[in-house]
Amino acid sequence: MSYSPESIEKYKFKHFSNLREKALICPKCFGMVMRDDIEFFIKCPFCNSSLEMNNQLEDYILKPVIEQWIYRQGSAFPEIYLDVGSDISRG
Ligand SMILES: [Zn+2]
Repeated sequence: MSYSPESIEKYKFKHFSNLREKALICPKCFGMVMRDDIEFFIKCPFCNSSLEMNNQLEDYILKPVIEQWIYRQGSAFPEIYLDVGSDISRG
């Protein structure tokens, strides 16, 4: 997919300091749209306006999925490294 350059900074996000989540600010009604709200329908749940997909929006929707996937992949490895580490400290 390719996007026009002027659409790159289209959306604003609200970052929550206590959560890793962030909310998309709807450009029409300035409502806080959570990722779950637009995971299947790219539409603001407050004003029902369609949100134009760009790389910001794609990143917002897909990033947590990718992070979870990386976390799950990564969590398979620490045990292996711990075993190696204990071998070294013993020897
Ligand atoms: Zn809206």
